[in-house]
Parts: sequence; C-alpha cells; structure tokens
Amino acid sequence: STEINKQAVDAVGDLSPRLGTNNHQDEKPSKKNLCFKVAKEHDIPEDLNKVLENKVMGTVSGLYYINMSVVEMACSGNADEEGILSKSVSSHSDLIPGAYEGGLKIWECTFDLIDYFSEAEIEFTNKTVLDLGCGAGLLGIVALKGKAEKVHFQDYNSTVIDKITLPNAVANCIRTGKGGDTKTSQPPSKRPKKAEHPPDVLTRCRFFSGEWSEVTQLLLSSKKPFSKYDVILTSETIYNPDYYGALHDTLAQLLDKNGRVYLASKEHYFGVGGGIPLFEKFIEERNVFKTSIVKTIDKGLQRCIMEMAFKESC
Ligand code: SAM
Repeated sequence: STEINKQAVDAVGDLSPRLGTNNHQDEKPSKKNLCFKVAKEHDIPEDLNKVLENKVMGTVSGLYYINMSVVEMACSGNADEEGILSKSVSSHSDLIPGAYEGGLKIWECTFDLIDYFSEAEIEFTNKTVLDLGCGAGLLGIVALKGKAEKVHFQDYNSTVIDKITLPNAVANCIRTGKGGDTKTSQPPSKRPKKAEHPPDVLTRCRFFSGEWSEVTQLLLSSKKPFSKYDVILTSETIYNPDYYGALHDTLAQLLDKNGRVYLASKEHYFGVGGGIPLFEKFIEERNVFKTSIVKTIDKGLQRCIMEMAFKESC
C-alpha cells in the first residue's frame, strides 16, 4: 500500500536530515546563506540505459524512484561533481555543509501535495509546469503523467539532478504510454526496464541546477524560447527565511500572470526558523501575490498546502 511505500521512502530518508521533526534535532540544516551557485541546464543523455545503470528502484504513490541508499553505496569512494556522494556516512548534511539543500531524499510534504492534486482534481493537461526545488522530482513527474505540455525540474545541486531527478524522470517515462499515463499497475521489478528508444514524453522535460535567482536569469536570458509557467509546484522549500527574497522573485518572474503556485510545507522548521506564518508575512509585505491555505494536515507537526496567485490574476 501507499503507506508501506511511504515507510520505505522514510527508511531511505533516514540517511538525511529531517527538517522540522522533533527527532533528529541534532541534524539541522545549515542556516548559512547560499552562495549564488551558477545555473546550468542538464542535457538528457542519448543513452538512457546508462542513466538507469546500476540503479535500484522503489515505488511510492504509483511512481518509480531511485533507491538512494543504493546510489550512495554504488558511488561510495567515487567523486561526483559536488562531492555529495563521495563518502558513505549516515547524514548527507555532514558531507557538504551549507552546499547540499536536501534533494537526495523525498520529503513528506511531497506526498501531501500529490494527495492534494487528486483530492482537488488539479488539472495538468497542456500546462507548462515547474517543479521548483524538485529533489527526486516526483511532483513534476505527476504533472507529466497528467499530460502536462512541458515540465521543468530545478534543484540547487547538480548531483541531485544527475543522480536522482533525471533517472527518476527516465524511469517513469519509459514505463508510460504516449500521453504520459501509466500503462500498467504491475509491481515493478527492482532493476529498471531497458529504454529502447527515447520516449516522446521525456522530450517534454528540461532539467536545471543552481540557485534560484541564477536559474531564473538563465531561463529568461536563454536563446531557447521560454514561456512563463502555468503551474509552479514546490515542496519543503521555505525552511530558510534567508532564501525568501530569491524564492519570491523567482515565482514573480517565472509564473504566468494567471498561473498558480502550489506550495507544501511544514508549519515550522525548528532550527532554521522558516515556515508557513513567516513566509505568509513575507509574501504579504511584498504585495505581489495573494495566498490561501487550501489544506492543513494535522498529523504530528502541522503541514499545509498553500495556493498562490498574482493579486491581479483572474
Ligand atoms: N521538493 C523536494 C521534496 O519535497 O522532497 C526536496 C525538498 S529539499 C528539503 C529542498 C529543495 O529546495 C532542495 O532540493 C534544493 O535544491 C532546493 N532549494 C532550497 N533553497 C534553494 C535555493 N536558494 N536555490 C535553489 N534551490 C534551493
């Protein structure tokens, strides 16, 4: 069941810090300001089989995801671009303090947002979608399966995009039909299926890494055509108040005038200080967006889904 699968993901998540939970209080994310990490676009490799090589998959909420603990073991001792995976220790936060932003695990608010999409019957058909601070990219993958026209994925860390997001998108795309909908609900094998041809659905995706302001500049100044997003999805990205300015401006610059942001977050992130009330106050002061809390989850530490739209939007 989904619950069992969620537990499986939590087990994977034990490798990294848990923002806003009372256990693991010693594993707090860094409150340091991020350096303005340059943005880059990650090409989709021609040989998709290579992307999935040595990867072990799990499933959650009907989606495939790369089992991180196995990625970590496979990469142990080999330097990756950012050094995140170069050592095998029990907490990612110990690996590159201040430079790793949490994208290697699937955070619980992702599941809140996925549940909300079906409850509220959120439509992705023909929409352009951004999964901002995507980590595993499950939100974007759901939008892709919902027949979104384009889905862009962004994470701060390029290693997360290369090792997790892109492989997850590939794994879900090679098992889906033309429109992006899942063909079967058969249990997956642990090893991913071989990709004979790059599936059309994957050509609807683009992948970016870097700090939010830098990614925004890259998109807006690129020679490739860019249209603003109908929907921006973001989960567990408001933990650090120091990033609110960059996040706000990114949303303001990249969202279509009638677009919607769906943001999932814990009420409060202990140790870092961010959370829903502080972010709401920040948004109110900037006077660009209207916000509403569309769902509250009261299990343990309260979690919320917030919808945002431009004040002048219809
Ligand atoms: N959305 C994923 C989930 O729910 O599983 C990952 C959440 S993780 C806690 C926060 C994500 O936000 C990271 O993956 C990181 O890449 C992104 N992020 C946070 N601050 C950022 C910043 N200032 N610039 C770019 N990305 C940032």
